[in-house]
Amino acid sequence: MVELDSFANLALATMLADRLRAAGIDVRIDGEMLGAAVGAFPVDQTRVRVLVPSAQLDEARRVRDEDLAQDEAPCPSCGAAVPVNFTTCWSCGAEIESEKKLATVPATSSVPMSTKRWT
Ligand SMILES: [Zn+2]
Repeated sequence: MVELDSFANLALATMLADRLRAAGIDVRIDGEMLGAAVGAFPVDQTRVRVLVPSAQLDEARRVRDEDLAQDEAPCPSCGAAVPVNFTTCWSCGAEIESEKKLATVPATSSVPMSTKRWT
């Protein structure tokens, strides 16, 4: 087993471990025992480590990074990572329309002047 990541508390480590297990990755959480072994350190200063088999480390990293990136989408104009609740790109100012938003807008609705789709 190799360390994928470490967290300040068990709750955060468990959240990641649950996602990894859902993706079929064998996960071990290490750290609960550490507090008892070290003794002198308060439990909340113990790092909780998430361990995965070395053969699954790359996949585990991918799952972890997907988790971190799921609230951002690349700007269609410049490719910057833009939070999904943004309507314009923070980097280039391009309008961003999510697929969900596009799907709910009827084709006959008024189009903003700036779009000029039919000129
Ligand atoms: Zn942009």
